[in-house]
Amino acid sequence: MAEFTMELNDEQKEVRDWLHGFAADVIRPAAAEWDEREETPWPVIQEAAKIGVYSLDFYAQQYFDPTGLGIPMVMEELFWGDAGIALSIVGTGLAAVGVLANGTEEQIGTWIPQMYGDVNDAKVAAFCSSEPDAGSDVASMRTRAVYDEAKDEWVLNGTKTWATNGGIANVHVVVAVVDPELGSKGHASFIVPPGTPGLSQGQKFKKHGIRASHTAEVVLENVRVPGSCLLGGKEKLDERLARARERARSGERVKNAAMATFEASRPAVGAMAVGTARAAYEVALEYATTREQFGRPIVDNQGVAFQLADMRTSIDAARLLVWRASWMAVNGKPFTAAEGSMSKLFASETAKKVTGQAIQILGGNGYTREYPVERMHRDAAIYTIFEGTSEIQRLVIARTLAGVPIR
Ligand SMILES: Cc1cc2nc3c(=O)[nH]c(=O)nc-3n(C[C@H](O)[C@H](O)[C@H](O)COP(=O)(O)OP(=O)(O)OC[C@H]3O[C@@H](n4cnc5c(N)ncnc54)[C@H](O)[C@@H]3O)c2cc1C
Repeated sequence: MAEFTMELNDEQKEVRDWLHGFAADVIRPAAAEWDEREETPWPVIQEAAKIGVYSLDFYAQQYFDPTGLGIPMVMEELFWGDAGIALSIVGTGLAAVGVLANGTEEQIGTWIPQMYGDVNDAKVAAFCSSEPDAGSDVASMRTRAVYDEAKDEWVLNGTKTWATNGGIANVHVVVAVVDPELGSKGHASFIVPPGTPGLSQGQKFKKHGIRASHTAEVVLENVRVPGSCLLGGKEKLDERLARARERARSGERVKNAAMATFEASRPAVGAMAVGTARAAYEVALEYATTREQFGRPIVDNQGVAFQLADMRTSIDAARLLVWRASWMAVNGKPFTAAEGSMSKLFASETAKKVTGQAIQILGGNGYTREYPVERMHRDAAIYTIFEGTSEIQRLVIARTLAGVPIR
């Protein structure tokens, strides 16, 4: 097990500086344009693929880094550049992690490379779990997967919503109900391969922020996928369902395995929030030291300076929570106080607050699109919503502390 460290090692610093260069030279200058266009920034993704920022190898290397600081470092730098573009670059990772967590080695080897495409033809992937009536309450999911034994195929029907890259993805990972009696224990994940008939994009959403990231409904109408597309395979699913039925009969309560996965993935979202917060703080600091009113820089007023002090303190605290949780995840430490949720909760709320304070410090300029902080503020609002809202994080933390089962 790697010791927890609060400093990046030399190799990590090198990667961080390289990423920062890409964020500063390629992502940030393109941010306003793609925010206005509300389209997937394919040229930027392609550029990222060319230099290796958008590649399976790169993320695998960071994902398995024993210090746990690799993924938070990548997220912070890319989202420092711009949240919408960065999500277009890292959104595929959500689907890839879904396969990594539940798939067989063969499925991992077959599908994850197809999610990224290649250097000259980058592709994206989508993870489709949320539905119009099943957001926080995942157990209310209705999309059904029915096994056609004669053909060894699964038939998927339903409507998914708010899917990042939904409908434009090469590979879709779809969560569906296989046994409605079992609530969230009766769900399974499926790969929908490129070009499968019956999968189509529904409404594409016009959003408040992260507008360069594509968010859409995914409609599944009699989508047939081979048996080999069930993540983990049929035998494992049958065993899992049999265990869940037995527990339901006996009333036994067990730890929710999906919760452990969420605890491990939430620090990455926290790191995205840290990136956005830091970006806004830096703009505000620079502005406060150069903008003069009443014959002196506005930072000379305690009212402004103290805000900056609070902003920086919260950002540093958020990063430490994120790093701790990420280190715990990589090293298999049990999340006895829901430290993953804690990190996401604090970092998300920090990003929302800090970006708002940045607008205040920039005054009228902060409110216009001439400066980036209003975009950062719009972007920051997503962190308290996706991957579990702030209320759900508090619920998870409180139930974990109280020893009450999380459904
Ligand atoms: C831009 C964007 C991208 C997304 N990307 C994806 C994706 O790629 N894949 C995917 O599957 N999903 C995705 N989502 C969906 C996202 O995860 C959900 O929006 C989120 O889980 C919240 O669900 P909901 O919107 O239905 O809100 P609801 O669950 O309807 O919640 C509404 C409000 O009620 C509160 N609330 C609900 N239950 C409780 C409770 N028990 N206690 C206290 N408060 C409660 C919530 O905190 C929230 O404030 C995305 C969403 C957005 C906006």
